[in-house]
Amino acid sequence: MDAPQDTKYAQGGPRDRLGRPLRDLRISVTDRCNFRCVYCMPKEVFGADYQFLERKALLTFEEISRIARIFTGLGVEKIRLTGGEPLVRRNLEQLVGLLAGIPGLDLTLTTNGSLLERKAAALRQAGLKRITISLDALDDATFKRMNDVDFPVSRVLAGIEAAAAAGLTPVKINMVVKRGENEADILPMARFFRGTGHILRFIEYMDVGHTNGWRMHDVVTAREIVATIAREMPLEPADPNYQGEVAERWRYRDGSGEIGIIASVTQAFCRDCTRVRLSTEGKLFTCLFATAGHDLRALLRGGASDTEIRDAVAAIWARRADRYSEIRTEQTAKLEKIEMSYIGG
Ligand code: SAM
Ligand code: SF4
Ligand code: SF4
Repeated sequence: MDAPQDTKYAQGGPRDRLGRPLRDLRISVTDRCNFRCVYCMPKEVFGADYQFLERKALLTFEEISRIARIFTGLGVEKIRLTGGEPLVRRNLEQLVGLLAGIPGLDLTLTTNGSLLERKAAALRQAGLKRITISLDALDDATFKRMNDVDFPVSRVLAGIEAAAAAGLTPVKINMVVKRGENEADILPMARFFRGTGHILRFIEYMDVGHTNGWRMHDVVTAREIVATIAREMPLEPADPNYQGEVAERWRYRDGSGEIGIIASVTQAFCRDCTRVRLSTEGKLFTCLFATAGHDLRALLRGGASDTEIRDAVAAIWARRADRYSEIRTEQTAKLEKIEMSYIGG
């Protein structure tokens, strides 16, 4: 179904209470994952008896595609497929195909890379243009300790190669840095990806959800990360590619590439936050740290028209005043926030 002709929101779509437009939609296509990263889905919580969503609760590809078109009618320019691990959702390339057909949309996907060797070519063929792959260490023992399912680095590297060979470029690599786990891998990762054309991005460890036991002490700050790299490989700041870019860009002075730093804890970027998240079962969250969402699936399955859904979303956005990262404390970290694997990273 086509998105409704937009007249009401023609001026770039609705604005929230802090004047921010709606530009990015992150869609979680599954709450399941084949990894148990210690900072995201700790095994003690996401164990054998953990209740994941049932199949019928999940939005279908057709429902997701309908929602995506409605959102582009409200000003969304970029969609990221995520999860959980998006590539464990069967036939994901079919969804990519549906979304790639939306004119002018920047479509991308974040994956742990474990299934990419098999799937990269099919994703590219379906219309995906670029990809982000998470990798937290080059040292095998460290990486296995972090993913907690004994998954070797070599297979993620093979996935990265497959993505590049398929033309899913530029490949971005996400490394979450957690003190006491992998800060010794900052330099080896920087050395390894420098000059490859892949863009390595370091992410400050965040208090997502309420199961990862976050403490400020565990955050290796952006400043520490840049200083560590710059001591060996001189860096200079680079301009953002566009307003509201989440990653702060740094260039190697010798021209051998760039890195990004996502300093969501120490340099909150809420004032430019144009992101909204759709959970696997169709709940809309206006902040990564939200404690409740808005049920769009009920509208979809209850017979609402595209215009009715669009107006409901615009009204939700207009009420938004989220700025969690600007007000974070050790106390707020203990709130019962929605898990990232459910809401979408
Ligand atoms: N499974 C996919 C993956 O790992 O790339 C996609 C979903 S994952 C939730 C999306 C991103 O969030 C990953 O790059 C992951 O490293 C990051 N992430 C998860 N938990 C985090 C945390 N506590 N702090 C910072 N980043 C986190
Ligand atoms: Fe899975 Fe990604 Fe979370 Fe790791 S970060 S547990 S790969 S969803
Ligand atoms: Fe956006 Fe919420 Fe993150 Fe701030 S804390 S940048 S409002 S998602």
